[in-house]
Amino acid sequence: MAAMTRPLLNRRLAEFGTTIFAEMSALAVRTGSINLGQGFPDADGPEEVREAAVRALRDGRGNQYPPGPGVPELRTAIVEHQLRRYGLEYDPDTEVLVTAGATEAIAAALLALVEPGDEVIALEPYYDSYAACVAMAGGTRVPVTLRPHEGAYRLDLDELRAAVTDRTRLILLNTPHNPTGTVLTREELTAIAELAVERDLLVVTDEVYEHLVFDDGTHLPIASLPGMRGRTVTISSAGKTFSFTGWKVGWITASPELTAAVRSAKQFLTYVSSGPFQYAVAEALRLPDSYFDGLRADLQAKRDVLADGLAEAGFAVYRPAGTYFVTTDIRPLGESDGFAFCRALPERCGVVAIPNAVFYDHRDQGAPFVRFAFCKRTVVIEEAIERLSKLRK
Ligand code: PMP
Ligand code: GLN
Repeated sequence: MAAMTRPLLNRRLAEFGTTIFAEMSALAVRTGSINLGQGFPDADGPEEVREAAVRALRDGRGNQYPPGPGVPELRTAIVEHQLRRYGLEYDPDTEVLVTAGATEAIAAALLALVEPGDEVIALEPYYDSYAACVAMAGGTRVPVTLRPHEGAYRLDLDELRAAVTDRTRLILLNTPHNPTGTVLTREELTAIAELAVERDLLVVTDEVYEHLVFDDGTHLPIASLPGMRGRTVTISSAGKTFSFTGWKVGWITASPELTAAVRSAKQFLTYVSSGPFQYAVAEALRLPDSYFDGLRADLQAKRDVLADGLAEAGFAVYRPAGTYFVTTDIRPLGESDGFAFCRALPERCGVVAIPNAVFYDHRDQGAPFVRFAFCKRTVVIEEAIERLSKLRK
């Protein structure tokens, strides 16, 4: 048993524990609470896309290992989507890689591109897998904090510039941003692009919420800005856009050199995944604009129901410009510890939420903030609000 005297989990992962999403979803099930924690829709995506998966499965398409880079039908559909939406041109054979969700794309990109000792700049609060993947790659994360200002979270470009050192390898972006709902503006993205070019940095950009931008906002891929096409790995996924988070079909688009590098890591993670679903997602990406417009309008209406309801219930609300999450400040309710608040919430009123502090290195900065998801049926959101209104006595 000598080997057991040292901790089993290696030092790189020891700090991470169980993801908050698993913890909070288990808590929701255990307590029978409404789960506005983990971001997954409570209704499946389009019927014709589901049928496309059934057809692929029945026709024997994708039931055996698909090609390493992804099935050609999906790679072509991804390329068409990037061209149609953003005017970005990619070669389906050398510049696209299909992955097991955006999660694997993030892991493979960081494992492929980060050398031990390299610094990786990430916007804080950051999606939890970023920190774990930087650690697995042996890199050092350097958080640059988005700060609440006049009802929204904004990036301080001077702080970002100051965070770049001679050891910085890449900037890991996420726009629209989980959990704050911030959508980076053209001005911000242009400044980031200029910095990347000036300091010769790579950019890995997580754009899984690309279709969830509200009001008059637009999503701008940083890869479309001058000097960025060759130094950017763009990541997206079918989970959010088509409401099939269980299918785990994601992808990257990048230069042939970057794609080959990411593929080097990806081939030893899953090699391939989601065979029949890849064909279905190829069809989904070709849905008419009315599908994408409808999704956005539906979620915008739900955002408003949840944001208004939370404000009414006494929370300070950061109304998101994108994603399907609302970040709130619990201090107006006389609370200051989001962790304690979220752990007690199921007992107090039968609702589950996520404490934003888990997405921070500077945990104190995230302490009073709590995230609620609105990718749920309106009746469910309304019931959650009804329950949360009990908090204000
Ligand atoms: N990035 C962000 C910002 C996310 O919120 C999520 C969660 N859906 C992912 C990546 C993971 O995406 P996927 O489910 O496609 O692996
Ligand atoms: N992206 C989802 C969220 O932020 C969770 C995905 C997961 O459970 N890893 O809620």
